[in-house]
Amino acid sequence: MKILSSNQELINQLNRININRSEDLINYLPYRYESFYYSDEDDLKDKQRIVILGRLVSNPRSFNSSGLNIITFHFVSNNNKFYLCKLFNRPFYLKILNLEDQFTIVANYNIKNHELNIINIKKGEIPLEERLKPVYHLPSNILSSSYLHLVKKTLNRIDEISGDIVPFKIREKYQLINHNQALKMVHFPKNMNEIHKGLRTLKFEECLEYCYKNKLIREQNKSISKVLKKPIDTNLINDFVKNLSFKLTKDQIQAIKEIVTDIKSNHLMYRLLQGDVGTGKTIVAIVSLYACFLSGKQGVLLAPTDSLARQHYENVKKELEPYHINICLLLGNMKNKEKNEVKEKIKNGEYDIIIGTHAVFTSSVTYYALGLAIIDEQHRFGVNQRNMLVDKGNDVDLLLMSATPIPRTLALSIYGDLDISTLALYPKEKREVVTRVVDYDSLKIESLIDYCLENSRQVFIVCPKIFSNGKSKSSEEIYQKFKNKYQEKIALLHGKMASEEKVEILDKFKSNIISILVSTTIVELGIDVKNAGGIIIYSANSFGLASLHQLRGRVGRDGQKAFCLLVESDENQEDIERLKFLENCSDGFEISEEDMKRRGPGDFIGVEQSGFPDFNSLNIINDFKMFEIARDRCNEIFNNLDDAENIKYHQYCLNKISNNEFITLIDN
Ligand code: ADP
Ligand code: MG
Repeated sequence: MKILSSNQELINQLNRININRSEDLINYLPYRYESFYYSDEDDLKDKQRIVILGRLVSNPRSFNSSGLNIITFHFVSNNNKFYLCKLFNRPFYLKILNLEDQFTIVANYNIKNHELNIINIKKGEIPLEERLKPVYHLPSNILSSSYLHLVKKTLNRIDEISGDIVPFKIREKYQLINHNQALKMVHFPKNMNEIHKGLRTLKFEECLEYCYKNKLIREQNKSISKVLKKPIDTNLINDFVKNLSFKLTKDQIQAIKEIVTDIKSNHLMYRLLQGDVGTGKTIVAIVSLYACFLSGKQGVLLAPTDSLARQHYENVKKELEPYHINICLLLGNMKNKEKNEVKEKIKNGEYDIIIGTHAVFTSSVTYYALGLAIIDEQHRFGVNQRNMLVDKGNDVDLLLMSATPIPRTLALSIYGDLDISTLALYPKEKREVVTRVVDYDSLKIESLIDYCLENSRQVFIVCPKIFSNGKSKSSEEIYQKFKNKYQEKIALLHGKMASEEKVEILDKFKSNIISILVSTTIVELGIDVKNAGGIIIYSANSFGLASLHQLRGRVGRDGQKAFCLLVESDENQEDIERLKFLENCSDGFEISEEDMKRRGPGDFIGVEQSGFPDFNSLNIINDFKMFEIARDRCNEIFNNLDDAENIKYHQYCLNKISNNEFITLIDN
């Protein structure tokens, strides 16, 4: 259903945050609620935000003082408390503020003068069912009132969109309410209880569907028995490992053993390889590709960005070309002619190993004999994309790679019944990245850059903000600020640049022609630059701890001491405390745990940027018990497909995983 608005500007703004249809709109949930419940006036604290009902007992007085318009009046609440009220810079209110009329006032309370600094004032009493106002993450140019109006209008026609799909038995057992009802409750709750009730149903539905889709993929894979073209000679793999220029860690060897055993078996592999940044997943992937080659099949390595794909391509070529293996790179934005040539050679089997971005699973690519698919940074791809890739062959082993180490039970819950290999050890002595939280004006920022340059080391500057906002600066501004001083040593890289330009800049950075790289997108930092000794992260607060840890993992890869500055304004002490955790901790597992603990229960949105799938209502950390329940129910549904409701659900999920419409887009 199209968005129910004739305001094209609003629609454009909504499209920008990926709201393209009415369905998207109603699935975009509030992240918090503003309360208009009346306060208990017997226990008011200084600076508290309060809501009271009462009436004016003096005529309002309006005057100007140092450029401000101030309206003052006296107010007696229904609990017979007397207040002095002040309203700043809203002279037009004077007209409606009549003596003896009843008003609801939202204000900050000043205990000393028993004074109210008004935030919001409304005529009459707020109806019971309107005392919780939803608040959404919206671009600042969307008026919240027009947005709320649109949501309300859409919800009124919601019955045209979708209904209940979860089998009745499960709805009953878990006391789920009607889906549309739940949506209405979450958007416009009459009370707190409705939020909980509605959200619980939406979460359960989303969780069940996610788990069931995972289950379907897993079952599809299991039902296939694999035929190798050639038996794998493990001696060759041992020789390959022995000839590497470095010694593998115990974990890498263990992971390779597990993967090779899977590849040799006649069952399909469905495995997650997880390990913190720098634990050396790439070489494990390369050995896996080699094993696949030995079995007479093609292997593909999928990466989320061009630069990461290129880097993998270089690495794979370096290690495998000496073994007379043909390797190619396939990117979406290559010239058509070149692309077609590559595709032709993939089709007739001239290429043994294919490295690329999402181009490797588009419909125009046919593989000669695909045997292994490896997905790096797997969370950046949707279930359907995973599926499209695996569908490129009859019996494709799947290896997912993830840099977010999470406890095993959680991984099982989120990813379904997959097998897990973990790299917990670091190859060299663990890197030391000295980390400090600093303010925007800190002199340490420039000192760090100078220090690195003096020692011929390179610096990353990450600045996620596209627009400036108060103290925080946009990447463009940061770049301009340092450009004068560092001249041609500094370059700016942002997501909107043409890809040739990006490649050129990255190449120059890799070869140390450029020493300082200012970048908006963190993904480009997947590149491996051994010489990088410093990273400065602006607006550090916009990242989760786990992401920040990943980012600082980009420096000090040569084993030398390196530095990380987290730049954030010191106005919010709580944020600073959170960031400071990274000053004293460098253990990826501990950091992701701290990240989990810090997310309050009021946080309804999914875990952003920390390496998990994107959920609408679920919070993996708080809701992970739900995943366990959902997994059990999925098995029940799957094992009882003669039940009409179950088969309906089964079909619904099957459609979804084969329906491209639901593919999550890669933001590259
Ligand atoms: P990640 O797990 O973050 O993808 P990479 O695979 O990029 O890590 O490895 C990080 C760096 O460590 C690379 O430069 C790689 O060549 C190097 N490396 C990997 N394994 C070892 C090892 N066993 N000994 C020494 N260096 C290694
Ligand atoms: Mg990697």
